[in-house]
Amino acid sequence: MIVQNKSVIEMLTCPECGGNMRFQASIRRYVCLSCGLSLTRDEIDEIRAKYRDEMKGKEEEKEKKKEYIKWWTSSKK
Ligand SMILES: [Zn+2]
Repeated sequence: MIVQNKSVIEMLTCPECGGNMRFQASIRRYVCLSCGLSLTRDEIDEIRAKYRDEMKGKEEEKEKKKEYIKWWTSSKK
């Protein structure tokens, strides 16, 4: 039997410095162990979604560039 959600305690990474973030129950926030940044789970999700969109945009740009190079090399002859 495969146990899913094995790591219920998520290791979140700090959006600022990439350090590990630990949940502090007393303040109900995730606190970065490296730089001390504290964020709520919602804020982390928001930042992550934004970051994902940015990465996606970059990938699309790369694809466009590839297409252009293909067109350029094939029309060169
Ligand atoms: Zn940090």
